[in-house]
Amino acid sequence: MSDIKIGVVSCSGEECLGGTISRLATRKVLEDLRLGEAVTICLPLFIAGGEEERNFAKVYPTVAVDGCSKLCAMRATEKYSGKVNAVVKVDEIIGKERALEELVSLRELPSDYMELVDKVAQEICKEMDKISSDILTKQVEEELKNSGEGSGGCCCCGCK
Ligand code: SF4
Repeated sequence: MSDIKIGVVSCSGEECLGGTISRLATRKVLEDLRLGEAVTICLPLFIAGGEEERNFAKVYPTVAVDGCSKLCAMRATEKYSGKVNAVVKVDEIIGKERALEELVSLRELPSDYMELVDKVAQEICKEMDKISSDILTKQVEEELKNSGEGSGGCCCCGCK
C-alpha cells in the first residue's frame, strides 16, 4: 500500500445514471480497492463549506469523478480549492446516452450496473496509480538532486 493519500471527489448527480455510477464507483475505491489510500469529501458540503474543506485539493492530489460533460466535481474543486490532477469522465466510459439516463431511485439501476461501477472504479484506480508513481518519481529525483547524484551525467567513480 502506498503512503500517498489521494483525494477522490465524485460529483453528486443523483438523477442520472452517470452521477450515480460516479458515486458508487468512488465508494468502491474508498472502501475496497484502495482502502486507506483514498480520501474524499462530500461535494455539496464542500461547496457550502469553510476553509478546511476548501484546502482539500491543496493538501491532497485529487481525482475528480464526473457523471457527465458538465464536470461539476472538477469545476467545483478547481473553483474552491485547487487544480485537480485527473478527471475520470464516466460518460466516456459508459457512453454519453447511458450516462444521461434518468434515474429516480437506486431501485431503478440497470441489471449491468455493477459492471459499469467496476469499469469506472478501475479507471479511478488507474489515475491514482499514475499520480502516486509521478509523485514517487519526483521524490526520487529530488533526493538524487539533493545528494548530488544524477547530476552532470557522470559515473560514480569520481572521474570528473
Ligand atoms: S457532472 Fe453531470 S451528473 Fe454529475 S452532478 Fe454535474 S450535472 Fe449531475
